[in-house]
Amino acid sequence: MENLQVPSEVQPETKCMYCWILKPASDMTLEHAIPQSLGGAQAPQRYKVRAACRKCNSSLGLHVDASFEKSWLPTTALGEAARHLSKTNDKVVPPLVCTGIIHLDIPGLLETEVCEWWIGSQAEHVILIRPVDEERYWYMGGNPIALKQVSANARAYYFFNESADPNRSLLEFKESFKRRKVKKISGTKIDGISPADYGFSAPDEADSAAIEWIWNNVFSGGNIEGAVPFNSEFDIRFMCKLALAIAYCEFGEKYLETVYAKLLHAGLWHRGEGEAPDIPGARPFNAPVDETLKKFTCDLGAVSLLIMPAGEYLQLTLNIHQKHTWTIAIAAKSELTAEEFGRFTDGKLLMLFGPTHSSYEIDFPDYLSRRLHPKGGK
Ligand SMILES: [Zn+2]
Repeated sequence: MENLQVPSEVQPETKCMYCWILKPASDMTLEHAIPQSLGGAQAPQRYKVRAACRKCNSSLGLHVDASFEKSWLPTTALGEAARHLSKTNDKVVPPLVCTGIIHLDIPGLLETEVCEWWIGSQAEHVILIRPVDEERYWYMGGNPIALKQVSANARAYYFFNESADPNRSLLEFKESFKRRKVKKISGTKIDGISPADYGFSAPDEADSAAIEWIWNNVFSGGNIEGAVPFNSEFDIRFMCKLALAIAYCEFGEKYLETVYAKLLHAGLWHRGEGEAPDIPGARPFNAPVDETLKKFTCDLGAVSLLIMPAGEYLQLTLNIHQKHTWTIAIAAKSELTAEEFGRFTDGKLLMLFGPTHSSYEIDFPDYLSRRLHPKGGK
């Protein structure tokens, strides 16, 4: 009965939707076609597939997803979306938003350290000092993998805004920094609040000197030199990855055989050397944006994905909080069946609300009708 045992070399193999290498099923991991930071956990089940290999899942998560999400435009738009939702939902704790790197001569600052300025929804400020740990790219708050692995000597100095609600403000701070190995020190005394309850440590001598320096130099109204991280290269790589994953989930593994999928694959793996592939529908950052499209394809507080025909392609528009949009073609009409293309003739819209764990799908004409003729005449 030796044929009952299946030799390892004939185990069924699956093609990873990103690297296209055939790998054993045991090497496949669950992939959210829409990253969780954009609300992908709330997406319909068809957008959660075991079709990404372990290697792609972790390396693209860091080099493509994180590089997109942690650059300035998506970060600020996601922060504003969460703040919008927190106005009507107490359970939503909006994150502090990093506004970039600032150049400060804080006493004791090492050459290998960098300062970031974070701002909360009630005008609280945090100066984060952390080691420079990124080899190629800037990550808001540091490289997410290095942060988990090393106990970095990072410290976050929190400065309360007197007109803010202290408990709310401290909760936002605690939530924003809870997954970071960082020493938290309050630069402000807040009446009736025990700093230890919010994870603050007592300042040592160096911390006290740094806090005093920040009060005298940062909050004194002088000019601060800084830099906003902006890396449009990752917009394209990220959109190629998103388009590939969404189309794979909609049209199945055979989609990877199309000429158009090969173009997206080339765009995903293009790492700066040589000419970048020309992706239809992918809009460079400085191209004009249709303001109507921006306003009427997304709810405030949401991340939306609209798929609709545009010429010879199916076009995907990603919209965050009506604030920024990114577009890319996901498939060529000529490479889809009439049924596959037909599903999107009117446009399909998916609305995701990560912070409130909710979502809905709607045909685009119904959505427009709802927005143009709201019930109750609001
Ligand atoms: Zn792979």
